[in-house]
Amino acid sequence: MTTISPTQEQQVLDQVPKQLYIGVEAPSTGDTLCEVADASAEDATAALDAAVEAGPEFAKHPPRERGEILRRAFDAITARSDELALLMTLEMGKPIAESKAEIAYGAEFLRWYSEQAVRIDGRYAVSPNGQGRLLTMQQPVGPCLLITPWNFPLAMGTRKIGPAIAAGCTMVVKPAQQTPLSMLMLAKILEEAGLPGGVLNLITASSASKTTGPVISDPRLRKLSFTGSTEIGRKLMEQSSENLLRLSMELGGNAPFIVFEDADLDAAVEGALIAKMRNIGEACTAANRFHVAAPVAEQFAERMAEKMGSMRVGRGTEDGVEVGPLIDDKQRTKVQELVDNAVGHGARALVGGHARDGAGYFYDPTVLTDIPDDAQVLREEIFGPVAPVKGFSDEDEAIAAANDTEYGLVAYVYTNDLKRALRVVEGLETGMVGLNQGMVSNPAAPFGGVKQSGFGREGGPEGIEEYLETKYVAVNL
Ligand code: NAP
Repeated sequence: MTTISPTQEQQVLDQVPKQLYIGVEAPSTGDTLCEVADASAEDATAALDAAVEAGPEFAKHPPRERGEILRRAFDAITARSDELALLMTLEMGKPIAESKAEIAYGAEFLRWYSEQAVRIDGRYAVSPNGQGRLLTMQQPVGPCLLITPWNFPLAMGTRKIGPAIAAGCTMVVKPAQQTPLSMLMLAKILEEAGLPGGVLNLITASSASKTTGPVISDPRLRKLSFTGSTEIGRKLMEQSSENLLRLSMELGGNAPFIVFEDADLDAAVEGALIAKMRNIGEACTAANRFHVAAPVAEQFAERMAEKMGSMRVGRGTEDGVEVGPLIDDKQRTKVQELVDNAVGHGARALVGGHARDGAGYFYDPTVLTDIPDDAQVLREEIFGPVAPVKGFSDEDEAIAAANDTEYGLVAYVYTNDLKRALRVVEGLETGMVGLNQGMVSNPAAPFGGVKQSGFGREGGPEGIEEYLETKYVAVNL
């Protein structure tokens, strides 16, 4: 990789459209990168006005053309992935290579749904009594509010925006305050790809509740799709009950990573590094607890410690860096508290365990063993580069430990025994399972959780269903 100059960094920042002003902080320095518009409640309502006005026309927009807008946007993002990756790294912190991977992943939702736009169909059936006919059709839900988090600044947007456009919905989009820049660029790219005015209306705001509150209680809104913490998801569900909004909730996780004695340990360590360290551990799918069969637990922990301890920590724009900063001081303090709580109750840090001194929110990759059952680190979403490793004695104990959480997004299982694999997969209370692989995200697959990780699916053929209503017509022959 060639070295990135400050001029190149400034160039990508300069071209983002901006008005009135919230500071965007660089997690790798703590400095302000630039400022973006700070929407008021009135601006948010104006955004909904535009979505409502554009709604009927866009619902009739030819599906092929809706698909082609998405396809052109996919091509543009792919062609501009270097500059978009730099922008993402500046606002979110992750290494450039990871930003590029997110851009490829995020763009892929646009391509997938460009292909789905022309596959929205219905059914014609003879009524069981032979006398009437049943006709069903699928129609766009209507104006949607899409709220996204900071950890995947582009992909969490395209996972909603792609199917919404394909289905013929209009929308108000609110990205996280920490990472508005990638979404602003996406909106510009979609506009250049031919998305009609009023279809996508973006608000960046210093107060999420003051801006989205009036939109959620507006009877013209039909759907809310939210990706973020379980805590905020609960609040939004409550607010949405007033108008009985259609809801999709992609919430927090506490993923178990289970390694059986019969697993290929090299493959398990490799998968564990991906499941733990992708996105600096700041992923809802991040392996949060490693449950490892007792005979191999120590060896697994030592190998993880060796690998994680040798990962290069630094600014995401620097060559060879594998671990960027955490998003902000609050997040880093939370990670430190979880580690301190575990160590205070008898856990041992094989490597790491500390924040780095100096500018930016860096935290050393950490492996913990001898974890007591009541350690907070096993219960709460860590959202950082910390791997707690705990032994188990048999399959039932492993499944019980994996399910001992309010969350149910994803689990990872490593075993070479097919029968065991299927037994364990069936016993896990999660929406997704990685079987002998450390990553499940795939735009062609239904992503989503159960229990307090939420409901609804994003990606795959299921993802567009979230933006469609079924109308049934009883036909009298
Ligand atoms: P968050 O604090 O819940 O924020 C998510 C979004 O909600 C942001 O845009 C935020 O805006 C907005 N928000 C906050 N309070 C709000 C309110 N009262 N009303 C309306 N909107 C509000 O979550 P986060 O810290 O950004 O993201 C991390 C969380 O997301 C983790 O729990 C992670 O597991 C989860 N996540 C889940 C998935 C999944 O697919 N299941 C994927 C990625 C992340 P502001 O930025 O202005 O506060």
